[in-house]
Amino acid sequence: MSQTGYQPPAPGSKIIIIGAGAFGLSTAYALSLKNKYDIWVFERQTIPSPDAASCDINKIMRMDYGDETIYMHMYMESLHIWEQWNKERALKGLGPVFHNVGNLMFSQNGKFSNYEEQSLKAIREAGYGHFIEEYRTPESIAERYPQFKEATKNGFDIAYLNKSGGWCDSSEACKHIHSKCVENGVHFVLGPEQGSFEKFLYDEKISTKITGIKTQDGKTHDADLVILATGSWTPSLLNLGDRLIATGQTVIQFKIPENLRKMFEGQPTWCADLSVTGYYGFAVNSEGKMKIGYHSSGYVNLREEDQVSVPRTQVTNPTDSIPIKALGEFRQFLSKFLPITTPMDITYARVCWYCDSVDGHYLIAPHPDFDNLIIASGDSGHGMKFIPNLGFKICHVIEGVDSEYSRAWAWRDMPKDTATYDGLRADSGPKIQLDINKQDQYTRMATKDDCKCARPSL
Ligand SMILES: Cc1cc2nc3c(=O)[nH]c(=O)nc-3n(C[C@H](O)[C@H](O)[C@H](O)COP(=O)(O)OP(=O)(O)OC[C@H]3O[C@@H](n4cnc5c(N)ncnc54)[C@H](O)[C@@H]3O)c2cc1C
Repeated sequence: MSQTGYQPPAPGSKIIIIGAGAFGLSTAYALSLKNKYDIWVFERQTIPSPDAASCDINKIMRMDYGDETIYMHMYMESLHIWEQWNKERALKGLGPVFHNVGNLMFSQNGKFSNYEEQSLKAIREAGYGHFIEEYRTPESIAERYPQFKEATKNGFDIAYLNKSGGWCDSSEACKHIHSKCVENGVHFVLGPEQGSFEKFLYDEKISTKITGIKTQDGKTHDADLVILATGSWTPSLLNLGDRLIATGQTVIQFKIPENLRKMFEGQPTWCADLSVTGYYGFAVNSEGKMKIGYHSSGYVNLREEDQVSVPRTQVTNPTDSIPIKALGEFRQFLSKFLPITTPMDITYARVCWYCDSVDGHYLIAPHPDFDNLIIASGDSGHGMKFIPNLGFKICHVIEGVDSEYSRAWAWRDMPKDTATYDGLRADSGPKIQLDINKQDQYTRMATKDDCKCARPSL
């Protein structure tokens, strides 16, 4: 156990944040506004790092969180900051980072699923019912959203639109908050040598007291407090006793032909009965790219020595796409939901890594076994939308302020066999080991050829 219990940093303290994804950047920004710490961020790549979860063309912004109302409130709180960021960017001639196009939440067979029912209840009870437009018949959906006509014929026959929500440009959001951090005097050390955390430094006398970090270039950096915000890499950097696990989740993109773009421009993001099918998707973006994702228990890539899942990404494996089985399942689902994509090539496919916690809540807490170490991770696949305000809540933890957030994300026992994740996973079965060396018909990576428009073999 730690020698003294957690001590919040004193004014003037040097704070090192490891990882410049949504969690690390948001923390750095919130801390910088306090104007009383010396803040250093170490990142092994660029900002955003090409294989970070935070690096993408879009992520869903939603208040629909079932009965997990703390995230609904946090979403509402983030909105004015997102809008402010849009204004700041407009002044610089940059495009918006938040696109308030709404979310279209489908269910099947004439009845809202539990998650959607719970979301509607929570939203209305909180006084946000005016954002909801219900579509209770397939005809009403198809009339308002003709691009989903086939989906309505194939069982996705009830839906609601939440007019508050849509998507954020996550890579641009990282760049935006990064520039604000730099303006506020945060120091950044980037790159695979000087920016990459290798190990913690410990006090000579107290073996559990962290005094700084060593980076891959061999340099040491003293710190009064270290915050580990390394996303899905976190459990492979420090033993967290099965609380967190890196899970690989699949996304694909189509390049929509010019003549069809109008149909998908500015449309709401959609969730196709998410807790049942796992599929969700976006409007076509300004480059003609349309992304579709699958939210599930995901893949793992187990390290031999300790069976800890370590992200396997296109940075270390540039020819990786997604496992062939996942590709076939995307095609199969889309043949019913958006058959217009059947003759289209999949132009990009990626396994992107969540840092799942067993109960779906973040893990943002002092590590009980070490002094001067805070874990800020366990995003569980739903942290991007909070990049503007998550850091303020992380500051509660850093500064020892008791809040509903610091309580929800506290260090806690999370037995593996109780895994619920975020309550939205389509499959709860055992994880499939992502191992392309096997070269079998499930796990081998799809080739460019496989990604071409649906072939009978898929
Ligand atoms: C497929 C997919 C879809 C998602 N969809 C949504 C969505 O629709 N809405 C939503 O709100 N959220 C979504 N998320 C979740 C969201 O992207 C994450 O919650 C968020 O990006 C997590 O941020 P992070 O900072 O914890 O991790 P990351 O963004 O992964 O950042 C971790 C950083 O740590 C760095 N790092 C790792 N090891 C080291 C080291 N040794 N030294 C230095 N730096 C290191 C990495 O390079 C990286 O930059 C999705 C995630 C994925 C994968």
